[in-house]
Amino acid sequence: MLRRAHSAVVNLATRAVHLADGTTARRAELDRFDCLPREEQERIAMSRLRKLLAHAFERVPYYAQVAQQRGLKPEHFQTYDDLRKLPLLTKQIVQRRWDDLVARGGPSKHIKASFTGGSTGTPLSFLLDQQYRGYGAADKARCYERCDYSFGEPLVFIWGSDYDSAAHKSLPQKLLDRIGRNLLWVDTFNLSEELLERHSERIVAHDPVLIVGYLVSLTMYARFLRTRGGRRPSPRALQATAETLTQPDRKLLEETFDCRVFDRYGSREVGLIGHECEAHEGLHLSPMCNLTEVVDANDKPVAPGQTGRIVVTNLHNYAMPFIRYEVEDMAVPIQRFCSCGRASPLLERIIGRAGDVIISPSGKLIPGVFFVHNFGRLLSGRDLVKQYQVVQESRAELTIRLVPSEGADVATLQNELTDMIHQHADSAFVLTFEICDTIPSTSSGKYRFTISKLDQPFTGNSPGSDCQPDTDR
Ligand SMILES: [Zn+2]
Repeated sequence: MLRRAHSAVVNLATRAVHLADGTTARRAELDRFDCLPREEQERIAMSRLRKLLAHAFERVPYYAQVAQQRGLKPEHFQTYDDLRKLPLLTKQIVQRRWDDLVARGGPSKHIKASFTGGSTGTPLSFLLDQQYRGYGAADKARCYERCDYSFGEPLVFIWGSDYDSAAHKSLPQKLLDRIGRNLLWVDTFNLSEELLERHSERIVAHDPVLIVGYLVSLTMYARFLRTRGGRRPSPRALQATAETLTQPDRKLLEETFDCRVFDRYGSREVGLIGHECEAHEGLHLSPMCNLTEVVDANDKPVAPGQTGRIVVTNLHNYAMPFIRYEVEDMAVPIQRFCSCGRASPLLERIIGRAGDVIISPSGKLIPGVFFVHNFGRLLSGRDLVKQYQVVQESRAELTIRLVPSEGADVATLQNELTDMIHQHADSAFVLTFEICDTIPSTSSGKYRFTISKLDQPFTGNSPGSDCQPDTDR
């Protein structure tokens, strides 16, 4: 009774906040857009793009140069095909031309700096403005509710990023989470079996309707529950993110938690890119927020059913526009419409991102994303590394492969990385650095930011295997 009253109060409060901060209006706008015919969606999205380009060509030095060199004007962009008049924005360009990608003369208030260690191994920092965050929040709110979840109902985040988790560790924030959001935040970074046991009891006690988590954390938790037996939570749905959701992983999660699993795909640089709806017929894109292309090696759109590189244009971040940004994941687009009635385009599946769990000498289980976030934090704003990879050779030995940027002080960088790993992961790690020209992808075409040659605890992977073959999905 008390729980239900709590949920109802949080629901009311969240609605009031969303009404006041514009989330409700933006959600309605996005929902209306989803139901328009695709031609109408294209017309509206391209008109947004022209507005963004008018800003970028005038105020963002990098794009002013592109416009001048190619003789481009905003009115040259009428259909999705016209996007190809613009060059791709790679992570290397963002690293190299960072200052030139920041808009001049705009309001600096409400702009937040963010960064990623790059799940594809290239660290990056960037700026996000208020409009970007507003649309991002509205789109995310929709994707939670597509999992049959209403705000206020008990929610659990099982999150593999210590960077995100740090914000949920203070007492005031914990109170706000539990009372104000009915949210239990579980930090799965640095897991041990004992900690899993403790977390598991807390999760069961919270009785979540929805569990949102890093895929690696969710599968680890599922395998732990299956190994240990005992009580399991019974959520209505799971939402998995941060890595490719393969068919075996989906089956494992569905069977363990006896509920539906929703795939969600996004990146820190451009936000939510795709999300499954209740029909589970692919990931719905949201062209009102992100124009997503899937292109081949010649920058041409791939045919439906074919695999291509994902390129995203965010339509709302005027502080630092990401236009035709190469996310460095692959996807397979679908031509058909989803049976849910929304006309927004679909991706059949995502192929990308994978990382093994690293086991520290003292027995902590460290998800690969630990390295993604901590490399990102350490390298934020500095053009030092083009790519990296962490390989666990034995319980105590890590090999750090680095592709340094030109002119980078490699010795200092190695010292900083050593300090970071010793301080935040385990001081007993013995590190070897390997300086490389490139870091190859695995046989399945995926780049893996961490590779373990040890048995994978609760992950079902044998050493040295490609843990999530994309063809299985
Ligand atoms: Zn649908």
